Amino acid sequence: RTFKSLGVCDQLVEACESLGWKTPSKIQVEAIPHALEGKDVIGLAQTGSGKTGAFALPIIQALLEKPHPFFACILSPTRELAIQISQQFEALGSSIGVKCSVLVGGVDMMAQAISLAKRPHIIVGTPGRLLDHLSNTKGFSLRMLKYLVLDEADRLLNMDFEKSIDDILKAIPRERRTYLFSATMTKKVGKLQRACLKNPVKIEA
Ligand code: AMP
Repeated sequence: RTFKSLGVCDQLVEACESLGWKTPSKIQVEAIPHALEGKDVIGLAQTGSGKTGAFALPIIQALLEKPHPFFACILSPTRELAIQISQQFEALGSSIGVKCSVLVGGVDMMAQAISLAKRPHIIVGTPGRLLDHLSNTKGFSLRMLKYLVLDEADRLLNMDFEKSIDDILKAIPRERRTYLFSATMTKKVGKLQRACLKNPVKIEA
């Protein structure tokens, strides 16, 4: 399998090559064609499986078609993971000028607000800090959002982010694509899936 055979556009195939990604990983083979078709996707996958590429490539490809600020939002359970996700988006999107903001705790709100004022395409954040900005940062909203990703959903739920995720869902459009990735399928993940995804395709790494 090649990225091109999954439907990835030439510009992004080149980006993968420049990162040394020669062939797609299993989760990428499974997820990318469905995501490019416009389906919601649930992926059972661990860190290290290439799951970030599995959602970042379809999102950047959609962004290329109709670029606008606040296009996609990725929820992460930890700040370290959020930073890694934004680095992969920026690396894959470097030739295209994809801009990201990382909204995580322990960093000055004002510095993040300045980054939001630059109107990034992609927001990667932990739920609590993202909500803080939705409530307090003037001019920032997710009303234009096209894609939501719940990454490491089992960990998001173990960290008691349920209420924050509920509040974030109220602030974003219902008309959107949603991807959920989790290492395990728990009852709570199933409940979150039913609340957030429409007719999802389920895949496994
Ligand atoms: P992830 O599971 O998304 O955290 O990715 C783990 C690591 O694998 C990251 O350093 C990625 O840059 C790398 N990676 C992702 N997809 C591929 C691929 N198709 N080929 C080689 N490396 C990859």
